[in-house]
Amino acid sequence: MSAAVARVLDGKATSALVRAEVRERALRLAAAGCTPGLAVVLVGDDPASQVYVRNKDKAAHEAGFHVRTARLPAATSQAEIEALVAGLNADPSLHGILVQLPLPAGLDAERVVACIDPAKDVDGLTATNVAALVMGRPGLRPCTPAGCIELLDRHGIELEGREVVVVGRSLLVGKPFALLALERHATVTIAHSRTRDLAAVCGRADVLVAAVGRPRLVQGPWVKPGAAVLDVGINRLPDGSLVGDVDYAPAAERAGWITPVPGGVGPMTIAMLLANTLRSAERAAAPAAARS
Ligand code: NAD
Repeated sequence: MSAAVARVLDGKATSALVRAEVRERALRLAAAGCTPGLAVVLVGDDPASQVYVRNKDKAAHEAGFHVRTARLPAATSQAEIEALVAGLNADPSLHGILVQLPLPAGLDAERVVACIDPAKDVDGLTATNVAALVMGRPGLRPCTPAGCIELLDRHGIELEGREVVVVGRSLLVGKPFALLALERHATVTIAHSRTRDLAAVCGRADVLVAAVGRPRLVQGPWVKPGAAVLDVGINRLPDGSLVGDVDYAPAAERAGWITPVPGGVGPMTIAMLLANTLRSAERAAAPAAARS
């Protein structure tokens, strides 16, 4: 008898649905006189960042957005980047500003992010939006964890009352995912590099999220039978192939649902960036309606 194999949480297909919905609403908004506008800022020549920016730029164009991409040399000063962001804040045709991280050495990313108008902070990384998330108030949520939630929602995977374990405690993924799951009434554990007996902690999870950046750290036998496994990690191996933080094949034999890498969480991140930008544009176009 062959082992059961998990159903795939197909981020590519789900993100295509979200993107089509965003495009439809964007075109309606544009017809009413407000084309959603996204600014993407790339500093330096990190190859992975160049790919991410190219993909975001393309997806935003396809959604019918107006896109302004600023590519700056690695030698750009802190003051120059901050002045650029101030100009983007003041431009009413732009509703979202994304500064691709990491920034080159010598630049203070935290200070750059702090310069972004929270209403245009489509990555959800400013202190205002982080506080809104912690306080359970409306705000722009970070794209990758929001994309994980969207993927679960669209597959009917409940969070309420369930055990969620997120491995990784970054501000970009681990912490905000934990807060979003808590908002959905899950019982949440955040595991990290100092967690003792990671295998046992993962084994409790009905929903297991790996956001570490270590190839195949989460092993198949750690997965609770039937669990939903979301693999956020993107790791390039020496042979050039991409793998996640979960050892996919053995994990898929135990899980109920699992995201592939690539084609799982990654495409959802871009879809949520578009959704956040659209939301900002809709608010800008109808501030009173958006408050209700
Ligand atoms: P990070 O380096 O900021 O955080 C990694 C976290 O993992 C830390 O909190 C650390 O405590 C924890 N950790 C490290 N070693 C560990 C271990 N041995 N056991 C348990 N926990 C350990 O990384 P990040 O920005 O959160 O990104 C994590 C991964 O997700 C990376 O591979 C990154 O490329 C990927 N990522 C993917 C997307 C996407 O769209 N798919 C978006 C963002 C990040």
